[in-house]
Amino acid sequence: MKMTFQGSTWGTHFIIFSLLRAASVENPAALNKLISHFAEDMSRLARNGVYNSIGARRVWIMHIGVKGDLPALAKIGALERSFTRMARHVNGRARCPGICWLCMAGKEGETVEDSVAFEEFHAEAKWKGTMMLESPWSSLPPIMRGLPWTAGEEPSFLKTDLWHNWHNGLGKIWLACSFVMLATMDILQGGSIDAKFEELTVEFLSWARRFRISPYLRQLNRDSFSFATNNSNPQGSWSKAAVTTQLMLFLSFFLEARVVGRTDDPILCGIATELLELHQYAKGTQLMNIVLSVLYAEGYWIRGCTAKKMGLMMRSFLLTYQECAYSVCKEWLNRFILVPKAHMISHTAEGLIDDGTRCQWAPSPLATSNQQSEDNIG
Ligand SMILES: [Zn+2]
Repeated sequence: MKMTFQGSTWGTHFIIFSLLRAASVENPAALNKLISHFAEDMSRLARNGVYNSIGARRVWIMHIGVKGDLPALAKIGALERSFTRMARHVNGRARCPGICWLCMAGKEGETVEDSVAFEEFHAEAKWKGTMMLESPWSSLPPIMRGLPWTAGEEPSFLKTDLWHNWHNGLGKIWLACSFVMLATMDILQGGSIDAKFEELTVEFLSWARRFRISPYLRQLNRDSFSFATNNSNPQGSWSKAAVTTQLMLFLSFFLEARVVGRTDDPILCGIATELLELHQYAKGTQLMNIVLSVLYAEGYWIRGCTAKKMGLMMRSFLLTYQECAYSVCKEWLNRFILVPKAHMISHTAEGLIDDGTRCQWAPSPLATSNQQSEDNIG
């Protein structure tokens, strides 16, 4: 079964209703009212079904999930545990109840034993044992009312979006930090950071010409990576997800040509910290480029062995990201920040590994991405 990424969005996606932001601001109850009417219809279709025009055949339709970016899911689920609750300060007064609706990740308890870190990406991460342990809402959200669902697993109705989590999330931070690290190392010839960014821009535009790619960004500079000063926390400043794809391909190419191809000597890499770090960036970039190109080439169902492999590679990327965060932290640099979207990508990775281990076929995580739905947002 193919995915619905090809062709016009109007031909594969059907709008039930839309609501202007201005109308929603004027009448905040309107959205929930519309959702309640929709949920009533969906509940009837799941329980009673619908007959065809001559009354000879009945079909039942099951609403199997709602997808959206993290703010949309937090709103539609009236989530009490969401990314907005992330602890901002070490000594913050209010304890974080958790940042994820699926598990207790991010929960700050009275003791370490009672707390659950969301920054764990390894196979035995503590949050994995807390899935569906506590409800993330005080009452079932209107969108689920009347819907037959496994008791205790209602939060799984809200589906996370790999495309937002990566292309408009962690991928932007990974790229910004990697390019900033490149511009602050001695691998480029320019004397100043700005001169090194100019050199990177020349290389990027020449790469784009060579591979016949129309670059959305014409310049790689401090603004592109929100890097005003050395204390800035680099993040991609673009809003177009395709920029992330283009820059990931270029970064991989650049690192392969300038670093990996330059030396494979493990001792030399071990001695030169910079080279070792660059090898980390090359490895992480390659891993995610492979995972995404494989997932986009697959259909809705992915063979179990492939799904497991992709999940393991995604987990490996997250562990590489964490190693980078740890090494810059030791140097008191504000880079590779650990954000809730990294935890959501960890759910996707672990889901692929679990499905791939248990089943012959696994559903693609891109089935719950929203890139095409964005066409309907004005
Ligand atoms: Zn979680």
